[in-house]
Amino acid sequence: METAEIRRRWLSFFEGKDHTVVPSASLVSPDPTLLFTVAGMVPFIPYLTGREPAPFDRATSVQKCVRTLDIEEVGKTTRHGTFFQMNGNFSFGDYFKESAIPWAWELVTTPKEQGGYGFDEKDLWVTVYEDDDEAHRIWTKDVGVSPDRVQRLGMGPNYWSTGGPGPCGPCSEIFVDAGAHLGRDGGPAVDEDRYIEIWNLVFMEFERGEGGGKSGFPILGELPRKNIDTGMGLERVAYLLQGKDNMYEIDEVFPVIEAASAMAGVRYGADREADVRLRVVADHVRSGLMLVGDGVRPGNEGRGYVLRRLLRRAVRAMRLLGVDAPSLAELTTVSKDRMALSYPELGTDFGRISEVVAAEEEAFRRTLVAGTTILDTAVRETKAGGGTQVPAARAFQLHDTYGFPIDLTLEMASEQGVSVDEQGFRELMTEQRERARADARSKRTGAAAVGAYRDVLDANGPTDWQAYTTLTTTSR
Ligand code: ATP
Ligand code: MG
Ligand code: MG
Ligand code: MG
Repeated sequence: METAEIRRRWLSFFEGKDHTVVPSASLVSPDPTLLFTVAGMVPFIPYLTGREPAPFDRATSVQKCVRTLDIEEVGKTTRHGTFFQMNGNFSFGDYFKESAIPWAWELVTTPKEQGGYGFDEKDLWVTVYEDDDEAHRIWTKDVGVSPDRVQRLGMGPNYWSTGGPGPCGPCSEIFVDAGAHLGRDGGPAVDEDRYIEIWNLVFMEFERGEGGGKSGFPILGELPRKNIDTGMGLERVAYLLQGKDNMYEIDEVFPVIEAASAMAGVRYGADREADVRLRVVADHVRSGLMLVGDGVRPGNEGRGYVLRRLLRRAVRAMRLLGVDAPSLAELTTVSKDRMALSYPELGTDFGRISEVVAAEEEAFRRTLVAGTTILDTAVRETKAGGGTQVPAARAFQLHDTYGFPIDLTLEMASEQGVSVDEQGFRELMTEQRERARADARSKRTGAAAVGAYRDVLDANGPTDWQAYTTLTTTSR
């Protein structure tokens, strides 16, 4: 089933259940506390918190998302993209678990010929929060899922809150068993590589009070209006339904792998390391396309830096695959040809997008020549002095003057057998940021935006460095 068809079925299923179809918001988050839209719920935050009255009781969308936190997973796991699309259905004080759960099951298990996704029940598993007897009862009694397929998990994976006072509540997730060859039996609690999380259902039903940490916080009582927020990974469902091994091999992404491997003269599937690089290229090129499409421009901070880093990582991966000639514009064209089927504006705006991408590649190529010389000298000096660690100041200079993302410096240093004083580098970055902030403060007054959605922020990184230092996801 084509990705576009999975999307169509999603929207028509929930439209048939009286949901208003809401177009994807921009990747540039409409919430001022987030750099990017990291989940389908982000555009609906004001309605979910009750800050603004919702113009509809029910909504559904396929939301473009970027999660920089997942960058290190890309190409290595089967299921993490820096860009992906989250299908969502939302209830603002309207239906609750009793509808959200059976509908999710209905869409997932209805045979393909009848408009559903046609997953086989024998491949499906469900998790609920350990104390959520209500959800457990709905899954087992109302829906009729076998109790040995419904696992109770703790707060870590199965409880959602903003991280501060506000709505909170249990989650329930649907997993697909991608095959016994991928790991041990036993369901999602045992092995993530085998059991693929496709859909998260969040039940916002309680009011969280002040204090407490990630778990063990005070709960003041039930919300007067309970909400539903769900998110299903479009690419994950696509790769499972298309019989592929991972999300980079789906119809919307794979053509870039094909184009990149043809340029490099390597065969995808022949070598693990090359395969990871090809998947990174395909992922980052698509993220770059979508971000530039939403108006982000490469730069040295914030969103621009994330974009710069993605594009430069893609160029770098191509070079490691043996391609020195410019390649990004061509690969971006391939990606656009696929993505424009769902996002036609990419086609009309492509002249501009292509120029931005090509200019960034060109800038990076110039920088790479100069930066590589600096780095090589630093490595030589380090080794000559009997050390094994490139000093922080050099990494900072490479970042600040030559636009070298720190992971590029780390990678290139490690190829030459030395490490980098990363801690020191981050301190220098913090100092620089504080200087910039002090500067900005002296130029303007006004309070910083206070985020209601701390947890999304914590999990996905507000701007630059947190997201880059965290190599693993905090939720599972
Ligand atoms: P995971 O544990 O696999 O990292 P998650 O729990 O962080 O996923 P949620 O925040 O629950 O993900 O998001 C809802 C859904 O969005 C997930 O169930 C998954 O299908 C999809 N999803 C999340 N992150 C990604 C990603 N980086 N790439 C592709 N799909 C994703
Ligand atoms: Mg989840
Ligand atoms: Mg995650
Ligand atoms: Mg998870």
